[in-house]
Amino acid sequence: MLDDMIDRLAGVRERKVWQPMPEAARAVFQAPMPSRGLGAEAAYAAFTADILPYELGNTNPRFMGWVHGGGNGPGMLAELLAGALSNNLGGRDHAAVEVERQVIRWSAAMLGLPAAAGGGLVTGTSIANLIAVLTARTHRLGPEVRRQGICGARLTAYTSIAAHSCVPRAFDMAGFGWDNVRRLPVDASHRMDLAALREAIIADRAAGKTPFMVVGTAGAVDTGAIDTLPDLADLCMAENLWFHVDAAFGAMLALSPTRAGLIAGIERADSVAFDFHKWAQVPYDAGCILVRDQARLIEAFAQNAAYLRREARGLAGGAPWLCDLGPDLSRGFRALKVWMTLMSHGADALGAVVDHGCAVAAHLAALVVAQPRLELLAPVTLNIVCFRYVPRKPLPPAALDRLNAAIVADVQEAGLAAPSTTMIDGKLAIRAALFNHRTRAADADILIEAVIDAGTARETVAHHEAR
Ligand SMILES: *Cc1c(COP(=O)(O)O)cnc(C)c1O
Repeated sequence: MLDDMIDRLAGVRERKVWQPMPEAARAVFQAPMPSRGLGAEAAYAAFTADILPYELGNTNPRFMGWVHGGGNGPGMLAELLAGALSNNLGGRDHAAVEVERQVIRWSAAMLGLPAAAGGGLVTGTSIANLIAVLTARTHRLGPEVRRQGICGARLTAYTSIAAHSCVPRAFDMAGFGWDNVRRLPVDASHRMDLAALREAIIADRAAGKTPFMVVGTAGAVDTGAIDTLPDLADLCMAENLWFHVDAAFGAMLALSPTRAGLIAGIERADSVAFDFHKWAQVPYDAGCILVRDQARLIEAFAQNAAYLRREARGLAGGAPWLCDLGPDLSRGFRALKVWMTLMSHGADALGAVVDHGCAVAAHLAALVVAQPRLELLAPVTLNIVCFRYVPRKPLPPAALDRLNAAIVADVQEAGLAAPSTTMIDGKLAIRAALFNHRTRAADADILIEAVIDAGTARETVAHHEAR
């Protein structure tokens, strides 16, 4: 297995990015649970035959869809080591817990948060954002809220329309309802409109609501836009609001030798959510929540159960436990793959990956601008390029959207590259996000060629259909 997987990583750019799964291949997974084991060798043979050919493909350098990291070798091996120990990091006194605490200290230092900061590794930014909302809630309403519930407290929060959909959902899951998250307009650079934010806060207070939290975005999923974090920090301080930053991938800008300044102000946040599985290339899943003052997390999550008694000595020592800082009791050794990635590659290499992704994006954007059949749809702030194919003869807007969606599916199904789609100013965009550390300029060339070929082939059909 080790040899196969190391060979696979070595040859990752030689394969198709992805291929659709035929029904027959899918049907294999309808088989019932075996009552008698087949043995590890047969199970591995089934993995090789049934799973490997149809995997997602995000280790491939031409996977450019959504926001996906590419994984890395030491991170992959860390999964083996963690599996061998099968440790539970929810609590107790052992080295794995120290590894997670170290990763949290490194993360806080990376973003300029104080030494009193605390946090933990979670599945991803979606859950990290939810933890931030719950922590801000308990801070605002006091620990009583944990006994009595929110009792109709009319709390409102603020984010922009460029924020990730998991932000309003976090408020929904926390019991506030996503209608109570004001989704403010953005400026031409897709950053939150500060004047609209101020007005919304005033209007909500006048209506008897309690503004309690602002969620800024550092690296918007569609375009990479970064809210003006110092302004948000000033406003939150003046208005006594919790300042949370969704920096799912943008947090890694802190390690860039040239772009760290873009997220200045993040060090003033009350909490930050980000992912190691995106720009930091740690194998899925590895998200992180950081809270400026660890005491806030303990206030929001810690409990006392007799069967989880902490002791001054022995294995039940080491309080506070990581389960005191979040909703999970059992917690795997997720920290090891983060730690192994950071230990083996170092901060400078990860910063270079960030700059490299931005450089490939600039190259891709230049190709788009130079090619008359392509149109750039959003400014390229970082490593995300949104564009579309425009046929020689103009098409109505809906047909143009359908054409571009079809081009993306064609390119994906051919296994040539895997961009995704999004909507930019009402237009369907082909979206290429350069997060994979293996992606080179030549891979961007291949994407452009594939899009032009698919667009040319489809153009005539699209005109017939639109008629
Ligand atoms: C990816 C992303 C999320 C969601 O993170 P998960 O790790 O997928 O839960 C939230 N916000 C932004 C800006 C993202 O890019």
